[in-house]
Amino acid sequence: MYNVEALEIQSYRRKYKVIFQKLSEDLVENIKEKSFLIIDSNVDIYFPLFRSKFDEHNIFVIEASEQNKNLQTCAALANRLVSQGFKRNHKLIAVGGGIVQDITAFTASVLYRGVEWKFFPTTLLAQADSCIGSKTSINLGETKNLLGTFYPPAEIYCCPEFLETLQEDDIKSGIGEIFHYYLTADSDLSKELAESYESVIRHPALRCAKHIRESLSIKKRMIEKDEFDEGERKIFNYGHTFGHAIEAVSKYEVSHGNAVTLGMDIANYISLKKGFIDHSIYEYLLSMIRKNIPDYRLTEDRLQDYFTFLSKDKKNIDNSLVCILPYGVGDMRTTIIDDIDSVKDIIREYFKR
Ligand code: NAD
Ligand code: ZN
Repeated sequence: MYNVEALEIQSYRRKYKVIFQKLSEDLVENIKEKSFLIIDSNVDIYFPLFRSKFDEHNIFVIEASEQNKNLQTCAALANRLVSQGFKRNHKLIAVGGGIVQDITAFTASVLYRGVEWKFFPTTLLAQADSCIGSKTSINLGETKNLLGTFYPPAEIYCCPEFLETLQEDDIKSGIGEIFHYYLTADSDLSKELAESYESVIRHPALRCAKHIRESLSIKKRMIEKDEFDEGERKIFNYGHTFGHAIEAVSKYEVSHGNAVTLGMDIANYISLKKGFIDHSIYEYLLSMIRKNIPDYRLTEDRLQDYFTFLSKDKKNIDNSLVCILPYGVGDMRTTIIDDIDSVKDIIREYFKR
């Protein structure tokens, strides 16, 4: 028995559920009717159960890379689906992390103007964050997540078994996103996660369920108020402005949630230096995320590239940097910084420490 209560999300299209359940033959058997499988190539190897339940012509394997998360892949997928007889009343079943999610959800949102899709998130990041919220994003040329729609799945199945085969770096990436939700909401579970960090990394399938549920619950409260990211949902950009630029400058060597962890610490440090928080709050926030911060340093010449990526952030207005900074524990606010040079100096100092 796997005793975690399901979560129901109200979206603009419909209500949908996140079901926490052990992976079983019955579960896959029950959803396979009139369905086509879109599966991550690594997950396909670790979990042959999915393949065994579908007709081989109705299985589409996807290599999870940012280079593949584009219109060409979605068009090729739609083409093959249609040629295999995929109809409007059929469903897509996505099994993978955020990349398979984005490719499937984007395709589902435009094929026949929208078909049903269900999702088995297989990374910690996908289980604790991306599976809800309706966003579908694909890359255009070099620009990440430039094209997209809002299109939630009909149902989500969070199975702990998937977490057993993940690389440690992907677990840390998921934990980074969980901390990002915990710190924006000042969750009671932050301290517990920080204190049991090593054990969570070692036994994610046993230790993550309540953190996944709590992280999704925090996100649920916000997306039900601002699904289309027009207002309050923007505080979830905490750690992301500075994190996205880390991902880009590292050429995606630093994975998303790890870059977000570093991005949160940079944001906290800027708040400290600007006098928005005092040293004790900075230290408190750092004590939560310290173990998850990747060991990544920027030398002076890479810093210039980092600043260039920061200045291209799509939230910026004219020459001002728009970011989310802490003003207290659980008090994140949108901040417009006109004096970008002062922020550059603070970031330079951050990496020199
Ligand atoms: P991912 O999909 O990039 O997968 C990471 C790696 O883990 C891949 O090599 C994959 O093959 C492997 N993998 C996946 N599940 C596995 C398992 N159970 N066992 C072993 N290996 C497994 O990882 P991700 O971090 O989930 O997704 C990142 C992507 O998600 C980015 O493209 C990001 O833009 C996107 N994203 C989307 C949203 C959204 O709301 N749509 C939100 C956050 C992130
Ligand atoms: Zn994120």
